Amino acid sequence: MTQLSGPELIQADTLDDYDLIIIGAGLTGLSLVCWLLQLTKEAQVELPRVCLLEPRLFYGNDRTWCFWDRDPHPFRDLISHRWFRWRVSQGNQSIFQTDKSVAYAMLPADALYHHALAKIDSTPAFDLYLGFTVSGIEHTNNGMMVSANERHWRAKAVIDTRPPDANQLDSGVGVWQIFSGLEIACPKHGFDTSTATLMDFQTGYPYPCFVYLLPLDEDHFLVEWTAFQPGKNVVPDYRIDLESWLERQNLGHYEVTRAESGMLPMMPLPGYNSSGQLIRAGVGAGWMRAATGYHFVSCQRGCETLARHILTAHASGNWMLQSPTIRARWLDWMDSVFLRALKRHPDQAPQWFLDLFAATTGGQMSRFMNDQPRWHDAWAVANALPPRPFIRAVLPW
Ligand SMILES: Cc1cc2nc3c(=O)[nH]c(=O)nc-3n(C[C@H](O)[C@H](O)[C@H](O)COP(=O)(O)OP(=O)(O)OC[C@H]3O[C@@H](n4cnc5c(N)ncnc54)[C@H](O)[C@@H]3O)c2cc1C
Repeated sequence: MTQLSGPELIQADTLDDYDLIIIGAGLTGLSLVCWLLQLTKEAQVELPRVCLLEPRLFYGNDRTWCFWDRDPHPFRDLISHRWFRWRVSQGNQSIFQTDKSVAYAMLPADALYHHALAKIDSTPAFDLYLGFTVSGIEHTNNGMMVSANERHWRAKAVIDTRPPDANQLDSGVGVWQIFSGLEIACPKHGFDTSTATLMDFQTGYPYPCFVYLLPLDEDHFLVEWTAFQPGKNVVPDYRIDLESWLERQNLGHYEVTRAESGMLPMMPLPGYNSSGQLIRAGVGAGWMRAATGYHFVSCQRGCETLARHILTAHASGNWMLQSPTIRARWLDWMDSVFLRALKRHPDQAPQWFLDLFAATTGGQMSRFMNDQPRWHDAWAVANALPPRPFIRAVLPW
């Protein structure tokens, strides 16, 4: 695994003063500082002094971010692969979508981490403290105080990007997306390199299970086994299912070059729409799309808005920040209805996804997935689904 070390670990036992503290330097924390850099450069204004606190000591290539790349963001040049055609399938049935202008894009985490850490390292207004696990946040007379590893930092405002506590999440309305993935080197593997397979549903499981396959070039691919399961306490070893699927492909000799796995809450998270000197951001603030587990695009949207609020606060001296609105409420409502129906009828879900992709265009689907549907996109999505289970899912009993 590639090991990226961060900027030099800062040692001191004084109380450090900043304009802003960002708790967590994962996707949201790092995106936020990159947006701050980009926006201050564009507007030629002064950067606030920012400190990031992060428990890890090293950054590995621990995930890949995939998303429909519609809107500009600071990491576009780091995208490693693009597909303009994608499909969902089950058995012999495949639905293809294309969009010549919007790609399904893949961005490896190590590229983003490298890029952001280098930016932080070369920006005197930014400090990254690695190896610090935040244990306390307090309001004080003149701002906020954050504590980690028996040290304290003071700032005018705090952005908290820590993930939600999985044990406190209620999967009453929703499921867990659990996946195990492998990046594989296999000379001339034979998968169609022009097409990303988003879901290839597998039969014989009590809840929806599918293979996700990104052909990276003729000799490499990323493949993941994903399940939408009701709970997370008993998790089968999906790597075994993935390996037996690989065996069935008769690929001959192949090598595993990287592994990634995850467990994402596909459920409405507590909304943290607030204003003040302490703002939550990222997955822990409900930014991830509940019905899909996609987060990268909403994260960029949230970070851009938050960065604008921070620069206004820095210019005015009024550090009462406002949580960004990530998506329209009716989309969250549609997601919760979908999740309720999915949970009641897991056996029907594969056909719903096939119908959904068959009834929409690539453009409609990418706008819907990116939280930016036009009315007729949302109408096409709603119309593609069978009314009975969804009307039942709307009813409160
Ligand atoms: C393997 C994997 C693949 C994914 N693939 C995709 C994808 O293809 N597309 C997509 O849109 N989404 C994807 N996601 C979902 C989502 O985009 C990622 O989980 C993303 O990293 C979430 O961003 P975040 O900033 O909210 O959380 P994180 O990136 O997890 O950042 C939170 C940070 O907070 C830090 N932290 C935790 N506790 C403390 C503490 N006490 N004090 C200080 N810091 C703390 C953590 O160390 C971490 O760095 C994937 C997730 C996983 C796990």
